[in-house]
Amino acid sequence: MNIKEKHYTYMKLPIIIYSDKIIKYTSLSKKTAGKSIYPFIILKERYKTDPIYILRAPKVIRHETIHFHQHQDLIIPFLMAILYGIDYIFKLFTNNFDPYIAYHENAFEREAFENQYDTEYIKTRKKFSWFKYFLRNLK
Ligand SMILES: [Zn+2]
Repeated sequence: MNIKEKHYTYMKLPIIIYSDKIIKYTSLSKKTAGKSIYPFIILKERYKTDPIYILRAPKVIRHETIHFHQHQDLIIPFLMAILYGIDYIFKLFTNNFDPYIAYHENAFEREAFENQYDTEYIKTRKKFSWFKYFLRNLK
């Protein structure tokens, strides 16, 4: 392994934790199903215990794994979270301060939502894929 390869050695998969408490204390919305706090993915406990939610878990895990890779694209810890916040605030200002629209228009969320049903996406995803969603919004 040469130096360049070493520098870009990433974790292939996030560490999954099921915790209602972490979700509660780190989320503004009560509807939050899961969240990506690199290198972890935190899911509500019902995704492990409730048969109906267990069926939905793979989609949520894929969505949060896309965020995990977005974090890895930016190497510097928390840079993705900072860019996410800036884009969210920008989308608030450009969408009549509607938090629902601002969340769904966020470049990082759009990449995750558009690809959360695609079981092959993580394997074929190119680095910095979220960047095109940034550009597409700035019309
Ligand atoms: Zn998301």
